[in-house]
Amino acid sequence: MSDDEPANGPTTTGPPTATATSAPVALPAPSRGRPKPGELNFTAPRAGKPPQHLADLDPAGRKTAVEILGHKGFRAKQLSTHYFERLVESPEQMTDLPKSIRDDLVSRLLPQLLTPIRTLTADNGRTIKSVWRLHDGALVESVLMRYPRRVTICVSSQAGCGMNCPFCATGQEGLTRNMSTAEIVEQVVHAARLLKRGTLDVDDIDAGAQSSPLRVSNVVFMGMGEALANYNAAIAAIRRITEPSPDGLGMSARGITMSTVGLVPAIDKLALEGIPVTLALSLHAPDDKLRDELVPINTRWSVDEAIDAAYRYFEVTGRRVSIEYALIRDMNDQGWRADLLGTKLNARGRGWVHVNPIPLNPTPGSRWTASDPGVQREFVRRLRGLGVPTTVRDTRGSDIDGACGQLAAATA
Ligand code: SAH
Repeated sequence: MSDDEPANGPTTTGPPTATATSAPVALPAPSRGRPKPGELNFTAPRAGKPPQHLADLDPAGRKTAVEILGHKGFRAKQLSTHYFERLVESPEQMTDLPKSIRDDLVSRLLPQLLTPIRTLTADNGRTIKSVWRLHDGALVESVLMRYPRRVTICVSSQAGCGMNCPFCATGQEGLTRNMSTAEIVEQVVHAARLLKRGTLDVDDIDAGAQSSPLRVSNVVFMGMGEALANYNAAIAAIRRITEPSPDGLGMSARGITMSTVGLVPAIDKLALEGIPVTLALSLHAPDDKLRDELVPINTRWSVDEAIDAAYRYFEVTGRRVSIEYALIRDMNDQGWRADLLGTKLNARGRGWVHVNPIPLNPTPGSRWTASDPGVQREFVRRLRGLGVPTTVRDTRGSDIDGACGQLAAATA
């Protein structure tokens, strides 16, 4: 997992501790099997829909849903207050709903969508990876990362992924299915509850001096899946996360980052949604020859087309764009590639973009590994030399397979 924190070397001091474990579980075989190199998959296999949930619906839709169930419309607001504002965990706490109707409303509109399978902690308890089972057995993961002044939840938007980037564990699993809006939102709500409960501890000395806030401040779509390939659910989830409470979680759109391989039409559409989320473009190479291999979507939309779309996103929203660049030893880490990247970004303008090099997290079976530290420093130096703001990303949770690209849900 990564976040905007400078890399100061390993942050982990102890072995990861597994808590709340249950029996080993295996990922259900993706319905299409592993993708062949370069093969892209945009259409998720049709799966039985997850049960309807309050978080799938906008406020008007919730009122209608409640009325269809034969209850008074104002119950929708009460349910929303419990779910989004009070983060209520158990129906017994919903005392303003008469017992006679509470069970019906809860079972029909607040069904359990995510079943915890496994929780792993690292970084002295500051990083928590959760593996969830969805209603049909698909497994997805989310990662909660606490920093002194912010708390970031990294969410999944699809079970698996169809984009097939060869260095990414999820990409190698193929696409199982799209997640629903509520399945995405639930990951954020679970994290918010965990923080609110106040039972999370960090076991080191600076905890008292600089404890993390008790609310989720950032949501990054950097878990499993290509969220822009599950566009409607991802946008609706963003709306639920940003709508003021009690209709939504009331978070700032500025704290949300949408990461994409570069689905150009979807980037342009996102720019027009009127939600100022940050866009992160997973570029990983500045030249088409290499990017065709590293990010196969490049065969549809080239490096220049992807960068142009990112620039348009900046122009329309005023939000500075991030370029993600996993540094892979002897693959994409040459000085000339840093220069080419800087030149291409500067050709569009100044002040519109910053680059986040990420040390590659090697995934099982991969022949690739992270760049040497000296090579990484030189890459950064060249970009900065060209005036491009550049911050190496911290790789939180790599020892619990919670780091970027390690979310394969092959949990055992
Ligand atoms: N589908 C989205 C989200 C993917 S995960 C996207 O591609 O942007 C978020 C980031 O982690 C992406 O930039 C992705 O390329 C990167 N990533 C994937 N595998 C990685 C690995 N093994 N090491 C480092 N970064 C990786």
